[in-house]
Amino acid sequence: MDIEKSEEVKTESVSFVEEILKNDLAEGKNGGRVQTRFPPEPNGYLHIGHAKAIAIDFGMAKKYGGVCNLRLDDTNPQKEDIEYVNAIKRDIEWLGFKWGKILYASDYFQQLWDLAVELIKQGKAYVDEQTSEQIAQQKGTPTQPGVESPYRNRPVEESLRLFNEMNSGNMEPGKMVLRAKIDMANPNMHFRDPIMYRVLNMPHWRTGNKWNAYPMYDYTHGQCDYWEGVTHSLCTLEFVSHRPLYDLFVDWAKQVGGDDKPLDDNRPRQIEFNKLNLTHILLSKRNLLILVKEGVVNGWDDPRMPTISGFRRRGYSPESILNFIDKIGYTKFDALNQMSLFESAVRDDLNKRAQRVSAVLDPVKLVLTNIPEGAVEEYEAVNNPENPEDGTHVIEFSRELWIERDDFMEDAPKKFFRLGPGKEVRLKNSYIIRCPEENFCKKDEAGNVVEIYAEVIPDTKTGQANSDMKIKGKTIHWVSCNHCIEAEVRNYDRLWMVENPRDEVAAYSKEQGKERIDIDDMRKFINPQSLEVKKAYVEKWLANAKPLDYLQFQRVGYYNVDLDSTPEHLVFNRTVGLKDTWAKINK
Ligand code: ATP
Ligand code: MG
Repeated sequence: MDIEKSEEVKTESVSFVEEILKNDLAEGKNGGRVQTRFPPEPNGYLHIGHAKAIAIDFGMAKKYGGVCNLRLDDTNPQKEDIEYVNAIKRDIEWLGFKWGKILYASDYFQQLWDLAVELIKQGKAYVDEQTSEQIAQQKGTPTQPGVESPYRNRPVEESLRLFNEMNSGNMEPGKMVLRAKIDMANPNMHFRDPIMYRVLNMPHWRTGNKWNAYPMYDYTHGQCDYWEGVTHSLCTLEFVSHRPLYDLFVDWAKQVGGDDKPLDDNRPRQIEFNKLNLTHILLSKRNLLILVKEGVVNGWDDPRMPTISGFRRRGYSPESILNFIDKIGYTKFDALNQMSLFESAVRDDLNKRAQRVSAVLDPVKLVLTNIPEGAVEEYEAVNNPENPEDGTHVIEFSRELWIERDDFMEDAPKKFFRLGPGKEVRLKNSYIIRCPEENFCKKDEAGNVVEIYAEVIPDTKTGQANSDMKIKGKTIHWVSCNHCIEAEVRNYDRLWMVENPRDEVAAYSKEQGKERIDIDDMRKFINPQSLEVKKAYVEKWLANAKPLDYLQFQRVGYYNVDLDSTPEHLVFNRTVGLKDTWAKINK
């Protein structure tokens, strides 16, 4: 299915998430309020999957007059960093969203601790001194009940004392954990005495040395939502089975010092939707971090990365990302969306915004023998035929031009409608030219063509007497040798050679007997030629181009100006080709 077709079938239906939200509002839950949160862990840069979560978290709050807070889920100081917090903020803003407050899970560390102490006192939590292996062994399976820990019924005072020791800084990590006392036989594995706290003995970039024991995600998220007044806690499907535990911890938080509003109508409601998953890319920050650390890519915002900053640098607009996300929608089923569909949406978007320019990526010289040396003509080139308001810019024309090497063929077959002996083409914005039958090129000793010769056919420019002269040849692009700039062009190809790297790399890694995928597994699937750097000639007007400007190199592809680009050394990234050539090559 292509994007045009999917547009045709699109109706004004709202997502199932929005239906739930509307019903809750109609029933007057939470006093008619909508409050959401976007809760990334600051352990990496945001990726395109996060854009899907952002779009609905911020989008629903905005649409229903509510607020969406940015809550950084910073419960694991081993992996988190302020660099990531700043990158997360930048990316959300670039997508066009505004948060209410910036909050941190660490803002609630004291409250979570106090709650845990209270739960120990009520017999709902205990310190377990078993190793993580022992605890895992006792978990059982979904059809087999687990085994209760020998520490499960230890005296409250003992647990309280040990819990304090866990946070003292003198406790060895892994020696003990705090667990909720729920039900070791529950069919929901998350109820089998989940771990609430573990010892890390690490300073935290926000709370310093105050804490040495840190709360787990499941013991943190629901209570933060509840204390903050979140009404709808939107997340992805893997949390479905966590929801009963989320609700239970909220109940416990309410019992221990919550307000006296009835919880039924005033509790955060977790709603899960399907993750974004695209062909030919691998998400998950853990894996992306490996690519960065191992130098497979040049940082988190490398244009080959599926991060928001990578797509930005590659030349995708925020609108194209959000339109695509809107098109694929939110469901209850995992899906694998085609990258080509995303690229097609990006092409549609860039067609409307990209400025048309000329760049020759594989240059060979064309000499127009009937144009005098030193003569210069100036033309007004239209910046974007799709948007007349973008105006025009000046391009220079002269006797010597650069054209693409593959726009010329010495032994051209009949169906080759570009330059060759005796053939005619139009030069974009300029004359029709003709290549002679004899003496049409000069070669070097190795037999490579170094110069091509042609004559301009007079009065064939637009508006001139012979402008409608019929020719078989196409229009080719060019830049004037004396009026162009050398530039670096970075052409990107897919980073992954397989359609579904997430599953294929994982399967391979498992075959190797590993628990988690590593760089060696990844390398088996990484395209060794995902970046091609070229020297190109671009028209002089591009000296003024600013990083992230959207461009179309006519007949070549959509490009943008890289962040590394300076007026002295221009650098362009290929955003996407003009057509989907990749699908064809790989069939
Ligand atoms: P990763 O596994 O890539 O590290 P994560 O789920 O651990 O991602 P968080 O920072 O914890 O990332 O997630 C922030 C929010 O983004 C969560 O609500 C999460 O469900 C959502 N999210 C993460 N990945 C995707 C995805 N591929 N599609 C949609 N939402 C996602
Ligand atoms: Mg994570």
